[in-house]
Amino acid sequence: MRKRWVCRRLPILIFAFFIILYVDFQLRTSSLPKLSAVNHPSPGAAQRAFQQDPSSAKDAQNPATSSSSSIDDNRQSGHSTSEGARVTQSKLTQEDIFIAVKTTGRFHRTRLALLLETWVSRTKAHTFIFTDTEDTDLSSKGYNVVVTGCLPDHSQQALSCKMSAEYDGFMASDKRWFCHVDDDNYVNPEALLSLLSTFPQEGDIYVGKPSLDKPITAHELLEGNKTREVRFWFATGGAGFCLSRRLAEKMAPWASGSRFEQMSATIRLPDDCTVGFIVEKRLGVSMVHCPLFHSHLENLLLVSQRSIAHQVTLSYGIFENKMNSIDVKGSFSKEDDPSRFKTVHCLLYPFTSWCP
Ligand code: UDP
Ligand code: MN
Repeated sequence: MRKRWVCRRLPILIFAFFIILYVDFQLRTSSLPKLSAVNHPSPGAAQRAFQQDPSSAKDAQNPATSSSSSIDDNRQSGHSTSEGARVTQSKLTQEDIFIAVKTTGRFHRTRLALLLETWVSRTKAHTFIFTDTEDTDLSSKGYNVVVTGCLPDHSQQALSCKMSAEYDGFMASDKRWFCHVDDDNYVNPEALLSLLSTFPQEGDIYVGKPSLDKPITAHELLEGNKTREVRFWFATGGAGFCLSRRLAEKMAPWASGSRFEQMSATIRLPDDCTVGFIVEKRLGVSMVHCPLFHSHLENLLLVSQRSIAHQVTLSYGIFENKMNSIDVKGSFSKEDDPSRFKTVHCLLYPFTSWCP
């Protein structure tokens, strides 16, 4: 009896099994093109050939073909077809990220030296130092130094002048992401790459952390000395922020050349606010708020030791006469490493020659 029941239903069960297999296969194959389409370069990416002759335009679109030798470059060399190049371009590598560090002559030996010793030692080829003072010591050691003609002070104009140079420097490069940091920021390159890899590579992305808990209000200067109130979010420059290539290209009418400084003067706000204004109010793109960026305007004691490896940026600074830095235990005392950057670096890269 039982045997007959099984015999009758067995073909139905087998048929149902194959139907499930077939539907599963259809779903998998139909979702593949969708996933890869997100990462494929748009025709607009050809503008990246900026500053280069047409014959090198293909290389410009594909930073992985530059002289450095990352794992991806090696994989890339195995492909000769354009299909192969497209596939590898979709995977973001460290060298695709343009890291701009803003500094000034009087901080070269103090703040900047600490960065060069720690995280910049891992990102030297794609880190660009924007300063206001020649330093043969820096250029002779092979760092990418851009001596801007900007004033060396902390004024809105001087800082916007440097941000403008950073933006123009990125636009003239073949990189896929622009990231700005101050010279009191620690950048964790792996965490940064992981974060940027989560976004659609051809999307309009502006990611960072606001220093305020609500949008800033600005008074945009209009013709005839009239003003208009505008509200928007901006990523605080002191925590670092990033822009995707596509969004940076769209910002050009308000950000390239002398326009960035003009824009900053029009809204009468500093450089980082100006970036937020252009992105949110001129282009209608919303900033992505990310808690992994940190400035010294926040209480850095709240960053837990076990989360350090996931943080994208850290900072340090004096707040109410006391050092505001992360509380991390490790290789160096607070006296020897007040910023905690050396201690963090030795936690992340314990085989660094100077780590105990
Ligand atoms: N900075 C500068 N010129 C100055 C002071 C500061 O270019 O006279 C740069 C500095 O190198 C840093 C950024 O501006 O990258 C922010 O400076 P700081 O951390 O001293 O001040 P904050 O704005 O964070 O309070
Ligand atoms: Mn600072």
